Formats: sequence, C-alpha cells, structure tokens
Amino acid sequence: MFKDLFNDILKDLGITGYKRPPNLKCPNCYSVMKRISIKILGNYGNNYLELDFCQECESLWFDRGELVKALEIDLKEISKYFPSKTKQSVKGSGKRICPICQKQLTLVNYSKDSNIWVDICSNGCGIFLDSGELELIKLYSLNPLQFSSQTQQEKQPLMSAVSTTSSEEPSTKQDSDTQYQFLNDIKNLAQRIQKVKDQVVYKVKQIEDAIKSKNILELKKLMNKQIFAEELNELGLINQEIRNMYQKYGNQKQIEDLQTHIQNIIKFIDIRSNSLKDRIAVEIEFQQEKEKEISSFELT
Ligand SMILES: [Zn+2]
Ligand SMILES: [Zn+2]
Repeated sequence: MFKDLFNDILKDLGITGYKRPPNLKCPNCYSVMKRISIKILGNYGNNYLELDFCQECESLWFDRGELVKALEIDLKEISKYFPSKTKQSVKGSGKRICPICQKQLTLVNYSKDSNIWVDICSNGCGIFLDSGELELIKLYSLNPLQFSSQTQQEKQPLMSAVSTTSSEEPSTKQDSDTQYQFLNDIKNLAQRIQKVKDQVVYKVKQIEDAIKSKNILELKKLMNKQIFAEELNELGLINQEIRNMYQKYGNQKQIEDLQTHIQNIIKFIDIRSNSLKDRIAVEIEFQQEKEKEISSFELT
C-alpha cells in the first residue's frame, strides 16, 4: 500500500517510470512525430517548450506539464506555429494508444465544460490534441464562458458562490469577469506549485548526485540543514492564498485539486527528505571510519 502511495506521488510529480521513446508514433495516424522546440517568453524569463508534432495530421502530443507552458504562448503565435484548417474539436475515432506507455488514451472534455475533446493518458504520460485544438484551448483559457456548454441554470451554484448579493441576477459582464479572475488566480497558483515541484525534483537529483559522487563536504552541509525549507515555506504561502481563494470564491473543485497537489508534494518531501538524510548519514559515517583507519595506520 505504501508503495502505491509512493507511485501516486511520483506520478503526481510527473515521474511515471515509463521511458520516453526518442520518436513518438502519432496516436491518430501512426506516423512518426517530429520533436520541436519553441521559445516562449514566460513569466519567469525565456523558456523552451518541447513538444511532438505530427506533420501528417497536424496533431500534437504534450508530455505532462508541457501543455500548461504552451498556453503561455500568444494566440497569434499559436496560429502561426500550428496553422490549422479545423476550427472545431473532433472526438477522434477508434482506439488511440499512448505513444509512451501504450495504454489506451481516455477521451475527456477539457476542463470539464469546454466541449473541446482531448485524449489523455491515465498513467500521466501526457495529452494528445487533434489539429486546431491547441488554438481552441487557448481561446477557451482566454474566455471560458464563450465555450461553456452548460445552461445558465446549471451554472447557478458557481455564480451564487461568488456573488455577494444572491437575490440580484449578476450581469453577464460581471459573470465573465469573476470567472476570468477565478481562472487566472487558479492558473497563477498552479504555476507556483509547478515551480515548487520542479525545484523539489531538481534538488532530489542534485542530492542523489552528491551521494553517488561521495562529495562529503556537500553532504555534511546538507546534513545540517532542512533540505526543503524554501519549498515548504513557499507551499505554506500558497496554502495561505488557497484559504483566501475559498473565502473569495467558495468551495470549488479546482481549488480542492490544488490543495491535494500541495499535500502530495508535502508527503513526498517528508518521505524523501528522511530517506535522503539516512543515506547521507551512512555515507558520512562510512567516510569517517575510513579516515580513522588511515590515521591509525599512519600512527603505527
Ligand atoms: Zn498523425
Ligand atoms: Zn501513457
């Protein structure tokens, strides 16, 4: 059971355990996809986005986490990079297979109410978009209401949760402004969480390297500090923001999801930092034993 939990956390951190083949096969037309790299001017300086493009059917594959980055690209740029004749989301026909783990992809309505049908790998490998769907998702992220399939009636719970005067019917303008603000807040927090995740994964790798290379000086430094202090601090601040979100928007699924993410990262940090410290301690002890042996040898 513990192993399952651990795998879930790894999956949540985007480490699925499946090896990515160098050339992916298009889940739609089985052609070999082309790996392309795009420069994006993100919030945190220049960034490169890598994704897989099928030249035959103009579809795209995003590894986990890549789509969020892709949505930072301007709409104009998206249309320039990925021109598409299709202006409608199509539900792909037939069985589509994940190009990484070979599991059948699951068809889902992006963000639940967009009516944009995308294929995702339930093992967490990534997401597959048919031609034109990236543009549609970008449009949706800019103006979710325009795409919503729900009737005003069904939307009532969300709106009554966010409006202070429940007797008054909020105007459509206010509706979309609040909705926009809400999604923007969610997006910002999700990006901050993603940054913490990236940093945790990076640190774990660095420490693993220090252990492997027996860098005792570095290991001793690590032993005496709380390795993930910064990250835990940032997660605490994000948690505070989340509490504010609940106050502002009421109980929303998206806010809960963010909270679950944070809890998973904290669990991961907890498990990982303990096991890393154990291994560091063993390494330092081993080194000290060796030094003792050498000095006693020199004395005699
Ligand atoms: Zn294709
Ligand atoms: Zn997969």
